[in-house]
Amino acid sequence: MHFRKRYGESRMDSCPFCGKPATSKNPQGVPACIAHRKLMLDGLRCACGSFLEVMAGKWGAYCRCPKCGNVNFKRAVEMNPQLLKQPATEQPKVPEKKKEIVIRSDELHLYY
Ligand SMILES: [Zn+2]
Ligand SMILES: [Zn+2]
Repeated sequence: MHFRKRYGESRMDSCPFCGKPATSKNPQGVPACIAHRKLMLDGLRCACGSFLEVMAGKWGAYCRCPKCGNVNFKRAVEMNPQLLKQPATEQPKVPEKKKEIVIRSDELHLYY
């Protein structure tokens, strides 16, 4: 029997704001994608109404409520949907459909 040991921890965190793979971290140590890495999680509120403290743990970010204790980070974000409405640094790519460039050659003649 050949038992292969899994190498390292390749568990990829997902960005709490958009769900993309979190390849970076925000200043609070929360895994985030590159577009949202500068987004701070301020003013998170627990279901009980208390403010949550964002903690960066070994297994990723989590929140701490003074009343309820540790709160799952994703749940905390779900309870605070207003955070997702903050403008992202990344601008959405808008496909350009206007490729028609109209140059009327007869107008150019007016300058001569
Ligand atoms: Zn993101
Ligand atoms: Zn609470």
